[in-house]
Amino acid sequence: MIHNCIHRGCRNTFEHLNQGRVYSLERRPEGKTEFFWLCPECESKFAVIVSPEGEVDVVPRKSRFQVGPPNPSADLRIFSAGFNRRAAA
Ligand SMILES: [Zn+2]
Repeated sequence: MIHNCIHRGCRNTFEHLNQGRVYSLERRPEGKTEFFWLCPECESKFAVIVSPEGEVDVVPRKSRFQVGPPNPSADLRIFSAGFNRRAAA
């Protein structure tokens, strides 16, 4: 269950799937899937990564770490991203 924005310094709470960006993280070998939410404000400033330790973290956009090597123990995907914005465009 998603409650808050993934960014630790952010206190925005999750309300609608069509705001911000939802990521799914499948952990191997368990095959357990977790969901994370990045609020619209943080979405414009941060990118979500999986650290070498397998922890989900945020990094400033334009960081060279934004496109990192795939983590062998976790698979991060964008689950949903701003449906309402796309429809309005
Ligand atoms: Zn946030």
